[in-house]
Amino acid sequence: MEFLRPATWDEALAAKAGHPGALPVSGGTDVMVELNFDARRPPALLDLNRVGELARWSRDGAVLRLGAAVPYSRIITELSGPLPGLALAARTVGSPQIRNRGTVGGNLGAASPAGDAHPPLLAAGRDVLVEAASVRGTRLIPIDDFYTGVKRNALAPDELIRAVRIPVADGPQQFSKIGTRNAMVIAVCAFGLALHPRTGTVGTGIGSAAPTPRRAADAEEYLGAVLAGRGLWESGEPPGEEVLRRFGELVTAAADPIDDVRGTAGYRRHALTVMARRTFTWAWNDYRREIRSAA
Ligand SMILES: Cc1cc2nc3c(=O)[nH]c(=O)nc-3n(C[C@H](O)[C@H](O)[C@H](O)COP(=O)(O)OP(=O)(O)OC[C@H]3O[C@@H](n4cnc5c(N)ncnc54)[C@H](O)[C@@H]3O)c2cc1C
Repeated sequence: MEFLRPATWDEALAAKAGHPGALPVSGGTDVMVELNFDARRPPALLDLNRVGELARWSRDGAVLRLGAAVPYSRIITELSGPLPGLALAARTVGSPQIRNRGTVGGNLGAASPAGDAHPPLLAAGRDVLVEAASVRGTRLIPIDDFYTGVKRNALAPDELIRAVRIPVADGPQQFSKIGTRNAMVIAVCAFGLALHPRTGTVGTGIGSAAPTPRRAADAEEYLGAVLAGRGLWESGEPPGEEVLRRFGELVTAAADPIDDVRGTAGYRRHALTVMARRTFTWAWNDYRREIRSAA
């Protein structure tokens, strides 16, 4: 197996163009497992660890550009303010060792429906863009178009993920994950929620309960309309039990779970209803505190 070690981004793109079958390695926490179990035997590995820019993030006004190889541990320590939903999700990934190596670029590359970065990225809004680059140029893939099937994504064979552009949070965000134990666990199912007071909208992301991560569009629309229609963004009053019940139902209706070793489809549906209500209630309580303390 060939081992390619580019030192710069341009070299990485050239290597990928010359070897489209080469498997990129960032933190290696998915790749090494696959190699060790002989689940994959690529003709070449493309080690991205010498490309320093991938491990940097920057902020341009209301948009944070997260390099593909910024590890979860740094998202937790450095980005809990601007990206609270992603930081909460990062806290639940694996163990300290996995969080030190694992990256959002790798989570997107693997595109597992159970990846924990996906629900908060979806909830952060439709403006989340994956920067995909090749020697042919750079294109920005909206997060809603990125996941194309079970462990499949929209990258072309010669493309690499350079960064993800994420709007800085304009309101509280929450993440909830159910596993078969408290730590070191792949999600049975997960849910991300973001309040967007600036646009009067609510963002959602469902994990591990459909062939791909996906948003609950009808639930977002329903809750957004209730919050706006009843003037709740201004008053901070809770929307009430009936609305939460309906929101939970619509989130669950957006899922398409299966029975597998981690849980049944029925359990996942039930869990999503609970997580939708809980995450909204947590986020709304935070929002209410924020507007009351600002008044
Ligand atoms: C013990 C253990 C526990 C885990 N727990 C969790 C968990 O709780 N939650 C969770 O979501 N995941 C978990 N994982 C899976 C893994 O840690 C995550 O998916 C992580 O985000 C992968 O990041 P990485 O940088 O290590 O990816 P890598 O293993 O380097 O790569 C993963 C995939 O992405 C591709 N890739 C990497 N970088 C790029 C790039 N720049 N451009 C294009 N493709 C790229 C690779 O070719 C590969 O297909 C766990 C793994 C282990 C071993």
